[in-house]
Amino acid sequence: MSGWLESLEGLAVSRSKAGLTRRLRPRPAGDPVVDLAGNDYLGLATHHEVIEASVRGLRAYGLGATGSRLVRGSSVAHADLEAELAGWMGAGSALVFSSGYLANLAAVRSLTAVCDLIVSDAYNHASLIDGCKISGVRTVVAPHNSPRAVAELLDAHGGRALVVTESVFSVDGDLAPLAELHEVTAARGALLLVDDAHALGLLGPAGAGGVAAAGLAGRSDVVVTATLSKSLGGAGGVVAGPPQFIRHLIDTGRTFIYDTALPPAVAAGVHEAVRTARLADDRRARLLARGALTVARLREAGFEVSPPAAGVLSVMAPGPEAALAWAEDCRDRGVAVGCFRPPSTPDGSSRLRLTLNAGVSDADFARALAVIVECSP
Ligand code: PMP
Repeated sequence: MSGWLESLEGLAVSRSKAGLTRRLRPRPAGDPVVDLAGNDYLGLATHHEVIEASVRGLRAYGLGATGSRLVRGSSVAHADLEAELAGWMGAGSALVFSSGYLANLAAVRSLTAVCDLIVSDAYNHASLIDGCKISGVRTVVAPHNSPRAVAELLDAHGGRALVVTESVFSVDGDLAPLAELHEVTAARGALLLVDDAHALGLLGPAGAGGVAAAGLAGRSDVVVTATLSKSLGGAGGVVAGPPQFIRHLIDTGRTFIYDTALPPAVAAGVHEAVRTARLADDRRARLLARGALTVARLREAGFEVSPPAAGVLSVMAPGPEAALAWAEDCRDRGVAVGCFRPPSTPDGSSRLRLTLNAGVSDADFARALAVIVECSP
């Protein structure tokens, strides 16, 4: 059938009229911009020891993994990283994936081997939503951060359910009530899956994550996922949980089995990043202090800001076009900020998303806050 490109042009025009066009902005190497848009929370993406460890990995193993984990792609670098992650996160076992997205798809789908209902928080990340969809199991979306609503949904359901949430939510930066949610799930024989993407490395003892901070590390009814691309500055994903579940995941996780493994050099670099993150209380303290400073400074200037539980926060904008113009003006003045608009956020909730970075100097950080205020719509 012809005319499909014209149809796509038509769709692009409607998105553009609604101010929803997404643009790529390739950054040059050594970009001098102050980064409040990336997720390199602890500044480890460019940390000397981390880079050196990945270069050693590159020389030892080559550029890619050359195969899927079960064929030729598993290296000692993967196994060492998995042991380190399990120890840090206080889990029985851990399995590394080539991205957090793929880790979430596999974790949700594989858990539904033993669950016949999913209760998913309304603000969950796209990867969790897609995991629910591909599982084919009935999924009910629960109001955001409401253990009471989750309890009611579980009570109305006879069988074993899976409750899916993030620890620190990726756009508003608020924290899930994990301890209350676990009380609800444990009392009803349900399982709890927590995506710790935005809290691993930042919250909990030695940065062990939001689940550890809530005292839930190592529970047999809790499974944790995370990306290795945010506070650890690398790439990849992890699922941490009881060894029996990890065994099941190796046997049945399609995005584990059929995907080329994470490059071993990246596993080696991330391993060094974990070692560094475990000892980085100073960087964590700087990041959390910057969150408090940002909220105070932006509220003083009259903005609506959500207080960050870890390193991510939102500053509300009047509309999608205003949010885009605000972000672009900041960029032109040397400050990179995130711009989130529908459909990534609910209607009427366009915003700048700021992600704090402990690697940015105090002077650059103060200048970035001033630029954000000066460029506001
Ligand atoms: N979960 C959450 C909450 C995220 O923010 C992200 C990254 N945007 C992911 C999962 C996916 O991780 P990755 O980028 O490693 O695929």
